[in-house]
Amino acid sequence: MRIYDLIIIGGGPAGLTAGIYSMRARLDTLLIEKMVIGGQIITTEKIENYPGFPDGVSGVSLIQKMEEQAKIFGLNIESEEIKQLSKENNIFKLTGNQNTFFSKTIIIASGNYPVKLGIQGEEKFRGRGISYCATCDALFYKNKKVIVVGGGDAACEEGLYLTKFADKVYIVHRRDKLRAAKVLQERVFANSKIELLFDCVLERIEGTDFVEKAVIKNIKTKEEKAGNFCRRRCSKEKPASGIDRSRRRSNRSLYGRKIY
Ligand SMILES: Cc1cc2nc3c(=O)[nH]c(=O)nc-3n(C[C@H](O)[C@H](O)[C@H](O)COP(=O)(O)OP(=O)(O)OC[C@H]3O[C@@H](n4cnc5c(N)ncnc54)[C@H](O)[C@@H]3O)c2cc1C
Repeated sequence: MRIYDLIIIGGGPAGLTAGIYSMRARLDTLLIEKMVIGGQIITTEKIENYPGFPDGVSGVSLIQKMEEQAKIFGLNIESEEIKQLSKENNIFKLTGNQNTFFSKTIIIASGNYPVKLGIQGEEKFRGRGISYCATCDALFYKNKKVIVVGGGDAACEEGLYLTKFADKVYIVHRRDKLRAAKVLQERVFANSKIELLFDCVLERIEGTDFVEKAVIKNIKTKEEKAGNFCRRRCSKEKPASGIDRSRRRSNRSLYGRKIY
């Protein structure tokens, strides 16, 4: 039975970064990825906020370089989905679809994923006018009209941030009042660039290659309105690991983190 010094779950930017550090520390390390190496960032065509790339870089190119760098230091990568974690006699047991792995320490770098609206056009235009992170993508919406969906803290915070770039921000909320903290609500109401659309839902998104049109429906009057927008969604993010951590004890060694 091989017992690694460290197993990293997830082959996105966080997992690969951890892999580079651990190999440089000469730890016997294994990285396990359930899909393709790269994580969420490979779905984006242009990254403009990563230092060292003044002209921007595609997600795929950046990840190829990260993987190459990790492999130069000898990082082993296995393809497997980890389904369960447990700890016995101070050793972690990681149960995958097909194999079981053992390690003294683990890093969970399994990322997270945004809650989807599940409406027509959402998947098609992800990264093509649909974003899930204002600090990542707000610059793409410079001088444009943007829809933010939601009425909680995230929607208000992201909407306010977007007003630094966009001409106009519509906050579309299915209820008749916001649920965000009062202080955020006050800032939203005071911002002349924000227009609130209460009792409304985003019905569908249309376009050819990029978002061109968004259809908003008033759930009380059933009236539909279409406009030319770039849309983003604000929602809580869910952990993406799908790992049953119920048997894991609290004295885990390391933890995965978001990179931005
Ligand atoms: C369209 C889009 C554009 C973006 N643009 C930018 C940008 O311009 N700038 C920026 O800074 N950020 C951007 N982001 C955010 C960036 O992609 C994330 O912050 C980053 O990918 C997080 O890295 P991570 O390694 O923590 O997680 P992830 O990238 O989510 O990687 C986690 C990995 O873990 C794997 N995994 C999960 N569970 C298991 C399991 N049980 N077993 C094995 N493997 C598992 C997943 O398959 C995945 O490959 C963008 C995101 C998207 C979706």
